[in-house]
Amino acid sequence: MEKQTKAIDIPFNRPDVYGALSIPVYHTAAYEFDTAADMSDAFTGRVAAPDYSRVMNPTVMYLEEKIRVFTGGEKVYAFNSGMAAISNTLVALAGSGKNIVTSRHLFGNTYALITKSLKRYGVDAKLIDLTNLREVEQAIDENTCCVFMEVVTNPQCEVADIESLAKIAHKKGAVLVADTTAIPFTEFSSHSLGVDIEVFSSTKYVSGGATSIGGIVVDYGATEDFGKTLFNEMLFNFGAYMTPHAAYMQSLGLETLDARYKVQSANALELAKRLQHLPQVKRVNYIGLEDNPYYKIARKQFGPTSGAMFTIDLADKEACFKFINKLKLVHRATNLFDNKSLAIHPASTIFGNFTEEQKREMDVLDTTIRLSVGLENVKDIYEDIKQALEEF
Ligand SMILES: *Cc1c(COP(=O)(O)O)cnc(C)c1O
Repeated sequence: MEKQTKAIDIPFNRPDVYGALSIPVYHTAAYEFDTAADMSDAFTGRVAAPDYSRVMNPTVMYLEEKIRVFTGGEKVYAFNSGMAAISNTLVALAGSGKNIVTSRHLFGNTYALITKSLKRYGVDAKLIDLTNLREVEQAIDENTCCVFMEVVTNPQCEVADIESLAKIAHKKGAVLVADTTAIPFTEFSSHSLGVDIEVFSSTKYVSGGATSIGGIVVDYGATEDFGKTLFNEMLFNFGAYMTPHAAYMQSLGLETLDARYKVQSANALELAKRLQHLPQVKRVNYIGLEDNPYYKIARKQFGPTSGAMFTIDLADKEACFKFINKLKLVHRATNLFDNKSLAIHPASTIFGNFTEEQKREMDVLDTTIRLSVGLENVKDIYEDIKQALEEF
């Protein structure tokens, strides 16, 4: 049976008394036990039964199980945001005196987490070019706890060679952690390319309609230690587990993820091709276009689709602001992979509090607009963008 079919059809662990077809939302903090021995079994982990919703909740466990079936991960943990998934992973792996080998091309908050927040606790950040394998080899040392990458960086749209990075990391005893927010697990298996821990913001493709915030960690066995993982410790001590309501929304989103993703990717490709012909658009940066420097590696890793995010460059910042202000259908909003199309000027928003020098180092340009292509008819999205560029 195909994974998509299995993931849709996963039965609840214990059926609801009314036979509800949709997973009930278990809005409860605690769970009652029949005997003291049952209680002890649950609390000590001998039996995987929920005892307290900071670490286990049936609605959240249902989402985790669906994603486990899809990815083939050993354990899946749902956190209350993408940043919680990333920060808990890095805190679990790192420690004072350790370092993280990563790139300057990172989601803004991940960059700040690694270079500011974790730095205060004695974790060093080695920011290198992950597409340069020799640099990677030289950067990893005995104190490297992990190599951290984004599979398609945001907003530079850079794609590193995952398989080669995994080989180098493993040879040197480091774990490869990949943020796969940009290309979902329904489309490619990061683990088959060598990724040890997959993290992603489920706010994006999984939730779909931008209904809720969430983050997922898929542990492919990297932190297993006598049945308990470092992530169990994180959930107990840092308390950033997903809420049942968010898990409900995201289980529903997950059921349509594969279908939505395919339409959004096709829309993005069609739109990117059309925008290349508009004179006001100086550059279209989409990994699905054959002239993109990452086209080949993206194809090899992710298959025939390339996701719903790409950027366009206009003449200058003023042109970008004018363009954004004139949009009628495409929404002026952050977020990615909503059902609706979205546009944002990353340099003045997501990266608005970074210095000009930092932005230069991160290749975040004043001329760039990031687009997230939705489920509208692509002709209408194109017409809106075209009218917003008129009179330039
Ligand atoms: C949005 C995003 C995050 C953070 O996720 P939240 O759910 O907003 O906390 C992390 N990484 C990437 C690549 C993202 O796009």
